[in-house]
Amino acid sequence: MRKKVLTIACLAAAILIVLSALMSVSCSQQASPPPAQQQATPTLTLPPWGAQHDRNAPQPAVVDPGEPSTEAQAGKPPSDAVVLFNGKDLSNWESEKGGPADWKVEKGYFATVPGKGDIRTKQAFGDCQLHVEWATPNPPHGVDQDRGNSGVYLQSNFEIQVLDSYQSKTYPDGQASALYGQYIPLVNACRPPGQWQTYDIVFHGPRFDAAGKLTRAATVTVIHNGVLVQDHVTVLGRTDGEHEPYQPTPTKLPLKLQDHNHPVRYRNIWIREIPESQGGPA
Ligand code: MG
Repeated sequence: MRKKVLTIACLAAAILIVLSALMSVSCSQQASPPPAQQQATPTLTLPPWGAQHDRNAPQPAVVDPGEPSTEAQAGKPPSDAVVLFNGKDLSNWESEKGGPADWKVEKGYFATVPGKGDIRTKQAFGDCQLHVEWATPNPPHGVDQDRGNSGVYLQSNFEIQVLDSYQSKTYPDGQASALYGQYIPLVNACRPPGQWQTYDIVFHGPRFDAAGKLTRAATVTVIHNGVLVQDHVTVLGRTDGEHEPYQPTPTKLPLKLQDHNHPVRYRNIWIREIPESQGGPA
């Protein structure tokens, strides 16, 4: 009888050991992420100035962020921005054909004069944050691409489309806030014609090696009227024509605005260059 009890106890203990081992294996499988997940976890490296939370690390420069615009009044740019239009004159611009920019300036804005041609900044810019305000004609005129068309050309080569796309359809990769011919905006955040609209753009330009080979494609993020419409997209090449490839260019080039034969208005244009030391995509 005693031997039988001992045998049953041994059997129970063995079952418990096996069950416990099985549970342990199951738990460890749940706790450990698969190898692919482990590899995807970025490595935290120390910042270049030394230790984390170092109170002697360089403090960022203080910038007055300015004031946002209202429909009636252009806002105030951040204190460290290069102001490209101050509401008074086009002295920071020139005609792409050569000579002064002869678009119309009035009442704190300027407007395309159909047939006068594109205008560009006298100064060249590289990686940047850009703010542009624009308004398409009211009452609206025309349809599709022939309706309040202009464009903001980053580095004179990459067009963020300006168009009256308020309740007006065209091919989606050519509507307002499209990277023309390359990326459809995530949403249509247009305001009605005649109302002021904003583009806030973050642009990192292309890089080329000494032989002219592309080493870094450009990227662009666009916020239209406060709404994200282009999320750090990779620019595929120049936007004029059909899938035009990159051509080797300097790191800095002028900003260009397009004359597409429609009297589109602009105001409150400013730009902040992003220093090379502040990164951007490698
Ligand atoms: Mg255009």
